[in-house]
Amino acid sequence: MNRFENFCTQFVQSVGKKEGAVSPSIVGSASFAYGDCETGEGIFDGSVKKPLYSRMGNPTSAQLEGILANMDGGVGAVGASSGMAATTLACMSLLKTGDEIISIGGLFGGTYSFFTETLPRFGITTSFFDVDELEAIKNAITDKTKIIFLESVGNPNMRLPDIKTIAKIANDAGVVLMVDNTITPLSIAPLALGADIVVYSTTKIISGNAAALGGAVVFRAINEDEDKFKSSRYEEVHKFIKNMGKMALIANAKKRAMRDFGMSASAYNSYLTMLGIETLPLRMDRIVESVEKIVRGLNERGLHVNHPCLASHPHHERYLNDFANGCGTLFTIDMGTKEKAYKFLNSSKLATITANIGDSRTLALHMASTIYRDFDAPTREFLGITDGLIRVSVGLENPQDIIDDFLNAAK
Ligand SMILES: *Cc1c(COP(=O)(O)O)cnc(C)c1O
Repeated sequence: MNRFENFCTQFVQSVGKKEGAVSPSIVGSASFAYGDCETGEGIFDGSVKKPLYSRMGNPTSAQLEGILANMDGGVGAVGASSGMAATTLACMSLLKTGDEIISIGGLFGGTYSFFTETLPRFGITTSFFDVDELEAIKNAITDKTKIIFLESVGNPNMRLPDIKTIAKIANDAGVVLMVDNTITPLSIAPLALGADIVVYSTTKIISGNAAALGGAVVFRAINEDEDKFKSSRYEEVHKFIKNMGKMALIANAKKRAMRDFGMSASAYNSYLTMLGIETLPLRMDRIVESVEKIVRGLNERGLHVNHPCLASHPHHERYLNDFANGCGTLFTIDMGTKEKAYKFLNSSKLATITANIGDSRTLALHMASTIYRDFDAPTREFLGITDGLIRVSVGLENPQDIIDDFLNAAK
């Protein structure tokens, strides 16, 4: 049985319509006419639920937002033009000069440079920790800490966080836990584990076919009786809680980030993403199984592969217990040197050499010469980037074909 059986029903039923055009309609208009002044006023004060202007929300993107919010049990979602736009939107809706971020785990290159190069220009600093440095993480929390940021799977170091325990640390301290769940949609449900905000690049496995750049932020409901957002740490959110109740984080994100930064999702890309998400449970189910087959097959033949399904991986137990539905499409191979890695990649007949992940096709990339080329040696070491490291994102091919091709390329 497909391990994501529930989502199979949910996605196809919420993408297609029962009357008229079955496939979602693309609303291409940037602006929307209000008809009369009173309706216009109502749209601006929020009492009339109609589109205002596409930067603030588009009906096609709103359908995708609803699907993603349901997927994670959130109160709502805000679409964005890319995964980095989603991270930027979520962070900028909560941060101001002087604030601090705690970042845990192996980090996507763009997020790492956002935290180390871009945010410091605005007086926002980030400290970085490995997933298992729990005491140090607790000690690093100050009055200025606004976000604890976590990637559900270390990319490309393949280390797995104990999300529940980290969520408890964040919740005990009254700090927001934001999880980048790009690699593990469906497999991991961050909000159910205690996170507050989930960010996605929908460009990857959610759309699955390299056809549309996109991102989204899913927010949990504000609990109106007692909520960490009511503390003075999140003072700027208070007026949204007062006006919008459980939807406060959506209004906060739209007013304090989307309106002024304008990283809005495009209707056409949201449409393509919905076509992709219909088959996400099927693709995810097949790929997490293929990843294990391929990793075991290559490991048995002596390749230096890294994935927590292997008993030798330090987080193997955590993988079995907390990641029972897999940890996404990635694994890595260390070929020892750059030359050997290049020879492997150039000899493979099936791997597509590209920086993307989560595609229907198997993708692969040499890390040190590409995404991490501008990083100094200590940073590369922290992120687990060795000279011969290749990241592989497994696709829908027959896994035995990939094993045969990779063994041949490694000869
Ligand atoms: C790709 C990726 C991003 C950024 O997404 P874009 O759509 O390329 O902007 C963020 N986080 C992770 C984990 C990613 O893999």
